[in-house]
Amino acid sequence: MTATDIAIVGVGKIARDQHVPSITKNDAFRLAATVSRHSGVEGVENFATIEELLEQRPDLPAVALCMPPQNRFDAAWTAIKAGRHVLLEKPPGATIAEVQALVEAARDKGVALFATWHSRYAAAVPSAKAWLAKRQVQSARITWKEDVRRWHPGQEWIWQPGGLGVFDPGINALSILTEIVPHPVRVTSAELEFPEGRDAPIGAQLQFAGANGETVSADFDWRQTGPQTWDIDVLTNDGTLKLSSGGAEMTVDGKVVIQEADSEYDGIYARFATLVAERAIDVDLAPLVHVADAFMLGRRIAVDAFDM
Ligand code: NAP
Repeated sequence: MTATDIAIVGVGKIARDQHVPSITKNDAFRLAATVSRHSGVEGVENFATIEELLEQRPDLPAVALCMPPQNRFDAAWTAIKAGRHVLLEKPPGATIAEVQALVEAARDKGVALFATWHSRYAAAVPSAKAWLAKRQVQSARITWKEDVRRWHPGQEWIWQPGGLGVFDPGINALSILTEIVPHPVRVTSAELEFPEGRDAPIGAQLQFAGANGETVSADFDWRQTGPQTWDIDVLTNDGTLKLSSGGAEMTVDGKVVIQEADSEYDGIYARFATLVAERAIDVDLAPLVHVADAFMLGRRIAVDAFDM
């Protein structure tokens, strides 16, 4: 198999922690370039802008866009127009319409476009989906509480418009919910806690309802120090399912069924290899739609200023 040359654009926390190791492990790809304003990856050719990369490396077929969502559309648009396959970090964009425009552009150009949702590649998510497919969901509770200082050190973009605040991790839970629950639910109410001086929420509580009477609640909080909580509990007509550790563990009626180490990004690059080979598009906007709806419906509550 000939490896596809790929460039990482935006060499920040997620690029270093996950993309570089998963690309290195995957024979289908070779990390051939980076685009970084400040750093890069040792031993890999770096470009200052994506325009320079696209101009000087017309042979390079694929890019992984790992910059903040507010800056992703322009880069994705330019890369697609230049005929390159594009992988988008989550959330796929700052608005829904911009991602829809990328889908159209990728279709026109016949290139692969992958809006990744890394939590869907957590070990227990496929089994949870299969288990729930045979049952009737009655209610679900999402508890997604983490320490923003630990996971987003020094990141100012995350508090700015389009940065999503606590929905940056919360959307991971919604990506699992929309994958495993057989029937769609819709946001019915939300409360969003905005710290003084910030343009994005630090906490959010959401309520959802489904057509068959299902109810879902979600509690997102960025102020949790100590142990971190990424749990989804689902009550059905035939038992209770719990996904914990962000989807790496699954219990049914309290009994552990799956417990595995994280390999989400290995799954993402395996999927991207298939999409590139088939020049296919995999873009599901459902998690982003829920976030947009929460912003539309949500009651805003002012809370104390929060220092990073
Ligand atoms: P980050 O550490 O701030 O890195 C983002 C990188 O993007 C920067 O280092 C910078 O790279 C580049 N960039 C380009 N334009 C920028 C701008 N105007 N402002 C700031 N950076 C800019 O962020 P991250 O945590 O890697 O997150 C990036 C994306 O990955 C987000 O969409 C996030 O939701 C997603 N993600 C993050 C995590 C996590 O645990 N942090 C987990 C999963 C997914 P150069 O200096 O190289 O140009």
